[in-house]
Amino acid sequence: MVTVIWGAVLVVIKADRVIPPEWNPLAPLNVTEPVTLFTNWRLDRALATPAACLAALNTAGRFDVMDDFEASNTCHIRTRVDLAGVGQVLINPVETTCAIALRMAMWEQHSLQPAATEILDTTVTGIDHIGSYNCRRIRSASGSSNRWSTHATAEAIDIAGFQFADGTRSRLLDDWDANDARARFQRAARNGACDWFQLTLSPDYNRLHADHFHVQSRGWGLCR
Ligand SMILES: [Zn+2]
Repeated sequence: MVTVIWGAVLVVIKADRVIPPEWNPLAPLNVTEPVTLFTNWRLDRALATPAACLAALNTAGRFDVMDDFEASNTCHIRTRVDLAGVGQVLINPVETTCAIALRMAMWEQHSLQPAATEILDTTVTGIDHIGSYNCRRIRSASGSSNRWSTHATAEAIDIAGFQFADGTRSRLLDDWDANDARARFQRAARNGACDWFQLTLSPDYNRLHADHFHVQSRGWGLCR
């Protein structure tokens, strides 16, 4: 009996030393680790509590933690951070939720940088956004809706373009339809956003999104 227990303990200790954290479903999320079958599960766990989210964001984000902002029942920023960068990328400081910041960090690390290297032979140094928190209702192509926007709780951010290490910029409005390498990068950026956010709307969705990606930290997986 003692031998059996010792055997089990040894196996656990050995497994703990051999399995890299990205293959350990119980290891806290580190943004910089390679993506595995367990990454999405670990991301969900990181998003489950404010403390876990901030700890995960700490592995790749430049940010200050702020007190929750409560304007009303429908308009607030909970687990609020002042985000100034993710990975190698600088961001014009924006107050948003930890969930949006963490998803942006995953997007930068695992989608934007690989796509920039492969398609443009450079690195992304900046993400241009046009805001996260906005206490307003949903806008649609046919007008305003009664439902509150995810911007009202900073569970969304609008991305207008990117800056690169060679000093160039790419705006969605200029390059989405260009049929060149920048347009291919923007498609790759949109498709990558669909992997890391819960809902992604690009210029393909409707004319309201001609100049930005709208990405959300909650939703049903719409990717267009
Ligand atoms: Zn938006």
